[in-house]
Amino acid sequence: MSTQTSRPLRVHYSEDYCLPSGPETVTKSRLVAEAIRRDLPEVVIVAPVPANREELLAVHDEAYLDRVFGADGGETALGDWSEPLLASILATTGGVRDAVTEALRSGRSGSLSSGLHHAGRSYGTGYCTLNGLALAALHALRSVPSVGILDLDAHCGGGTADILAADPRVRLVDVSVSSFDRWTPSDKARHHLRLVTDPAQYLAAVDEALDRLEGVAFLIYNAGMDAHGAAGGLEGVDTPIVRERERRVVAWAQSRRVPIIFALAGGYRWDGLTLEQVADLHLETVRAFAA
Ligand SMILES: [Zn+2]
Repeated sequence: MSTQTSRPLRVHYSEDYCLPSGPETVTKSRLVAEAIRRDLPEVVIVAPVPANREELLAVHDEAYLDRVFGADGGETALGDWSEPLLASILATTGGVRDAVTEALRSGRSGSLSSGLHHAGRSYGTGYCTLNGLALAALHALRSVPSVGILDLDAHCGGGTADILAADPRVRLVDVSVSSFDRWTPSDKARHHLRLVTDPAQYLAAVDEALDRLEGVAFLIYNAGMDAHGAAGGLEGVDTPIVRERERRVVAWAQSRRVPIIFALAGGYRWDGLTLEQVADLHLETVRAFAA
């Protein structure tokens, strides 16, 4: 496994990710890309290859995929089906897969993707239509023997568990501050879910989660900022805490030379933040990866 720290961080994003309006899932990545160009000019932004139906058959049911691709009037977890919305979903899903390819080469990468971890094999929910984390894991497993998925989004990743929990090569580690999409670890040696209700326990729970990942050959990090009290999460989890969270996750991977990728995941205006402020929170993840 090579970790060429001299290569600049490459983050996946294209105009297709965003729509002119809609929930944060389909509007905020444009502002994160702008913030990267403004504050982290050394980071390279690259357009991914959108996910295609054939590769998605490894992750989702055929009948469900048909509807996502427009059959029977179309189906998404983000509102009425449209061609631009499908293009957004396929681009953000492909971005996570391409981040894996880059991380296998250089040690780290990411995608400004949201709306992934609640999507199960035959359904979408909670703004998540396709599970790009699962697609990314299966893509990584073509090159490495094991993959960990660290899900620190505010909400649980029940969709990812629906698709991957039975795969013995995959370890699912989930620290949440909301019970939405809660799942029950089928194999307690491999999988771990913890709900945190006390902000003073949050970073300790992250450390415990990282301990649970010891030995994985690749790490997929769902870096939801909605754990932040002002972005939809737990009051008391503030910017210094999420900044420290990102530092610990990246340090864990770097010290073990485990290739790592991130997806943005949740982060909302629910408590009065502007979309720019939400984007600035996500920039904490990119900054930690670029350091
Ligand atoms: Zn969330």
